[in-house]
Amino acid sequence: MHPHTAKHFIHHQWVAGQTGETIAVIDPSTGETFDQLARGNAHDIDQAVHSARMAYDGAWGTLTAAERGRLLMKLAYKLQDHAHELALIESRDCGKPLKQAHADAAAVVRYFEFYAGAADKLMGHTIPYQNGYTVLTLREPHGVTGHIVPWNYPMQIFGRSVGGALAAGNACVVKPSEDACLSLLRIAELAAEVGFPAGALNIVTGYGHDAGDALVRHAGIDHVSFTGSPRVGQIVVRNAAEHYTPVTLELGGKSPQIVFADADLDAMTPVVVNAIVQNAGQTCSAGSRLLVQASIYEAVIERVAQAFNQLKVGPASMDLDCGPLIRQTQLQGVQGFLAQAHADGLKIAGQGSVVSQAPAGGFYQAPTLVRDVPLTHRLAQQEVFGPVIAAMPFDDEVDAVRMANATDYGLVASVWTRDGSRQMRMARKLRSGQVFINNYGAGGGIELPFGGVKASGWGREKGFEALYGFTLLKTISIKHD
Ligand code: NAD
Repeated sequence: MHPHTAKHFIHHQWVAGQTGETIAVIDPSTGETFDQLARGNAHDIDQAVHSARMAYDGAWGTLTAAERGRLLMKLAYKLQDHAHELALIESRDCGKPLKQAHADAAAVVRYFEFYAGAADKLMGHTIPYQNGYTVLTLREPHGVTGHIVPWNYPMQIFGRSVGGALAAGNACVVKPSEDACLSLLRIAELAAEVGFPAGALNIVTGYGHDAGDALVRHAGIDHVSFTGSPRVGQIVVRNAAEHYTPVTLELGGKSPQIVFADADLDAMTPVVVNAIVQNAGQTCSAGSRLLVQASIYEAVIERVAQAFNQLKVGPASMDLDCGPLIRQTQLQGVQGFLAQAHADGLKIAGQGSVVSQAPAGGFYQAPTLVRDVPLTHRLAQQEVFGPVIAAMPFDDEVDAVRMANATDYGLVASVWTRDGSRQMRMARKLRSGQVFINNYGAGGGIELPFGGVKASGWGREKGFEALYGFTLLKTISIKHD
């Protein structure tokens, strides 16, 4: 039993939930239960918000920006020291191959390092105004911020969201996903060890529809940072509206990888494959559509299919190309997409394989390349959130832009071409928050502002830009002689 078993982390204490109810933690590699979470409710959330408010009004809120930065840096070092331990926790909890979990541990260290350095560099402006006035702006923290985190990259999403919010001076209440959150409970404990004041960082575990819902509706929450599905994102926005609480929304994607005939195919192939296979395709920014210029379509399909055929899937501990999906219902959802594709006559061009050592109870899905997917097909429009890529040909640049922009989403896009003018034309015409030219940035990219348009959400996290979202701008006008 870990100290966190069936406990929240509130005001530096492991606290049992009001009801004593728990949620089973399931190992996706085996399907077996190996721990328990506290099932938080509105009462537990209220306790955490109260704790955060006390910290904000007291020991945390009175620190200087430099002192906050120093604490964030101490936490970065501490996380670095515990990177292997954190990677092991995340790997088991999420079913991530160990090397991917290590990359996530490195990323959370880097987020705290980056935001540590940014804490005392968040400045306002002075504004030229009428004679006899000096006008300036201040960037102030919101106060108590709520953070709702999904299960696919708990450490990374926590790092970018909570790291930025703390750097800006907010006190945080985090509601991680019921499907994976053990690494975050450990990080909160480590934050207490390095000297964060009690209440600056609180974690309440539980389901979205009770603990998450209570957090969003709480009158004491001054800002909500939500990362998750578009469906829940809409619910969160509606509920946050009760108290006019501002929301940052990081939602899903159906991101296109666009390959022109002049692309460097040797460089493109492994990147295109990794962009959908990473984390078994359970990545908001997964490159889940492959748009290829018609003249090289067959050649690209053949290359990518060959790479897919070599991919191996197995338990997280085997550290293969893909681990299992997070849970049984996720696997069923992905299988549903593939069954529909099959029923509609679509062809699989390449597919990886699940190794024989994979435990029968795990949630394994072979990475799959489906070709000639019509633009309007469900597989070309909806987020599968599994290792499935939909390939389709396009004629020319105009066609590529039309197809790339023809989904509800707009998170990330990549363009593969050697033509510099086309690179810039495409980058400007694609409706998405990030555009990668001859590379792909799934995951990572701590310094790069990130976020969506349309059903992919609004607001920006990552990079310095995120700090603007975690602050309020106040204008002060001083009249003088
Ligand atoms: P989800 O929307 O089901 O859950 C996300 C979080 O919201 C969880 O912590 C959940 O408990 C909570 N939640 C659920 N219902 C709630 C409610 N009514 N009120 C408040 N909170 C509630 O998403 P998921 O399945 O955990 O994650 C996958 C989704 O997240 C995908 O759509 C993916 O694209 C998206 N995602 C986006 C980004 C990004 O940065 N844009 C990053 C990772 C994941």
